[in-house]
Amino acid sequence: MRYFLKTFGCQQNVADSERIASFYESRGFVAASSEEEADVIVINTCVVRERAAEKVFGLIRNLAPLKEKNPRLTFVITGCLIGAASREPSGKMMKALRARLPEVQFLPLEEVGFEYRPKRAAGKVAFIPISNGCNNYCTYCIVPFSRGKERSRAFSDIVDEVREAVSSGRNEIFLLGQNVNSYGSDFLLDTLSKKNELFRLPDGKEVKPVFVKHLNRHRIPTLFPHLLEAVATIPGVSKVSFISSNPWDFSDELIATMARYETIDRLIHLPVQAGSDAVLKRMNRWYSRDEYLALIGKIRATLPEARFTTDIIVGFPGESIEDFEATVDLARRVNFEKAYIAWYSPRPGTAASKFLDDVPYEEKTRRRKELDMIVNGNRHNNIDK
Ligand code: SF4
Repeated sequence: MRYFLKTFGCQQNVADSERIASFYESRGFVAASSEEEADVIVINTCVVRERAAEKVFGLIRNLAPLKEKNPRLTFVITGCLIGAASREPSGKMMKALRARLPEVQFLPLEEVGFEYRPKRAAGKVAFIPISNGCNNYCTYCIVPFSRGKERSRAFSDIVDEVREAVSSGRNEIFLLGQNVNSYGSDFLLDTLSKKNELFRLPDGKEVKPVFVKHLNRHRIPTLFPHLLEAVATIPGVSKVSFISSNPWDFSDELIATMARYETIDRLIHLPVQAGSDAVLKRMNRWYSRDEYLALIGKIRATLPEARFTTDIIVGFPGESIEDFEATVDLARRVNFEKAYIAWYSPRPGTAASKFLDDVPYEEKTRRRKELDMIVNGNRHNNIDK
């Protein structure tokens, strides 16, 4: 039996697909080089963009004629669409999916655990997920619904996977997580809830799980700097990158760790989303524009060679011209190397989907174009169509 895997969305989905491939191969399937040759077509979905479900329906409709040549052809959908549907409390989303796709199988990602070692594409880079899900609930974002609560992988499991990747010829490591730099805070919270005083790392170091005030919020310090250090010092690793960081978990300890190891990438992706305090507040981002700018300044003071990329949403509900201008101003001050700019559109189930979506479509696209011109020189290679 042959499988064909089609992947939509972010790098995390690409990494998940490497495990999905191994999941099928462990069951005796071999990879097909095209949809036409496959007995199973697996679609790994993304719900970050609009009309995700419609795109999947359209794809299955287009591929359905292949069943005439191969009656045993099966479609499987997996990834964020299934995650979002299975976590939607009313059950309506799942019911609607099942009604619309009665002959399609659904594969929840939870069934494809980390015990499946990834079938990596050729190249020098290994993408390694270190956590999955998110607890932050930014009001526009569907990830906490599609991927669920944040769960960190075992520290030693990640380090072992990096070693394996190096031994198979990869020397560039990309650590992935929706909130990559909060890695391990779930372990520390668990330690704290059991009233234990110390959390022990695999190398014997002990970490005290206490709350600290960071960017105006109480956060538990994360294990990410320790993990980064462990990965950066593995012989054979020439570069370690990580994505996506959140400003509120970008601690002094993390900056100091980066400064100690030249193998840690100085190109930092630090999503800002907006440059107006009022919009940041409505987005439930946990920082002000001044705090974000101060963080950039702090990182540059320690790492003068640091460069930054970011994500920005324009046309968020209630975003006035002044709010937008504040975002433009912030982007100019930081001088981002690149910004991934999206115009706002509501995602079902999110808090912002209940806000009045009051910036007209034409104005959203105008703002996106203007910002793109300013930040990216209007290369148009980074914006959603
Ligand atoms: Fe979504 Fe990132 Fe906010 Fe989590 S931190 S809710 S993944 S935007």
